[in-house]
Amino acid sequence: NNILYNDEIMVRDNVVEIEDRGYQFGDGVYEVIGVYDGEPLLMDEHMKRLERSAREIRLTLPTEVGQLKEKLQQLVQANGLEEGIIYLQVSRGVSPRWHEFPSKSTKAVTVAYTREEERETALEDNGGTAILAEDIRWLRCDIKTLNLLPNVLAKQNAVENNAIEAILHRGDTVTEASASNVFIVKDGELYTHPADNYILNGITRQKILQLCDELGLKVHEETYTVDDLLNADEVFISATKTDIAPILKVDDKTIGKGTPGNITQQLVKAFRTLYEKKKA
Ligand code: PLP
Repeated sequence: NNILYNDEIMVRDNVVEIEDRGYQFGDGVYEVIGVYDGEPLLMDEHMKRLERSAREIRLTLPTEVGQLKEKLQQLVQANGLEEGIIYLQVSRGVSPRWHEFPSKSTKAVTVAYTREEERETALEDNGGTAILAEDIRWLRCDIKTLNLLPNVLAKQNAVENNAIEAILHRGDTVTEASASNVFIVKDGELYTHPADNYILNGITRQKILQLCDELGLKVHEETYTVDDLLNADEVFISATKTDIAPILKVDDKTIGKGTPGNITQQLVKAFRTLYEKKKA
């Protein structure tokens, strides 16, 4: 199994330096890119978000994204990856541990690897349950940084309660979930939290907005409450590789009829055409 380490595709080895700032401070940014039938999906969108995340934390990407994209394609080929994900992270580099940025000569460290993952078609078709959790994260959730401890704790809580996700709320307002965005449907129209500093603007979320537009579905990028969520006709989450997963129950409250809703199913189908079309 190969990895990308800075500019080089090499055999996976122990490359973690104990004073890598990603390791010690979570000082870096990352992306997870879905691979379907050997083809990365929405790669340009992921690269654009990576550039933005890096800029927001004042990290200079050591590789131009066009070149990085090519390296990632090579990595997928080298590993013969058909179904799965590319994990890519860029940390602020290796330097003696002081909180402030290291000297200008310290270069950011890029690492990427691939992981085989089966398609989650059963989850898309059958859905799952979620729990509610207070959103205790910082106020720059729009940046895809390595700091994920609140997300980790929320997800663990979900798993211990046999749920697939923890839906987060700040007070009354639903923001997103521990590793996905959240949409609700009420009276045939969709609602999702606006792409501001309280959520990560998911690549899947952005694609769904586009698909809704094409399908003539009305979407409100507006905040909504926990009460709106619990009384919605349909709820679904979106994230890379999971794509779209219907949520049938939140805590003890059944959503709608307790089965995947029409609009959710319509979007699942539309999303599948994105990579099935590519294959054809
Ligand atoms: N929100 C959070 C907190 C996430 O960690 C993720 C992805 O893992 C998402 C949303 C969904 O983003 P994307 O669709 O780009 O995978």
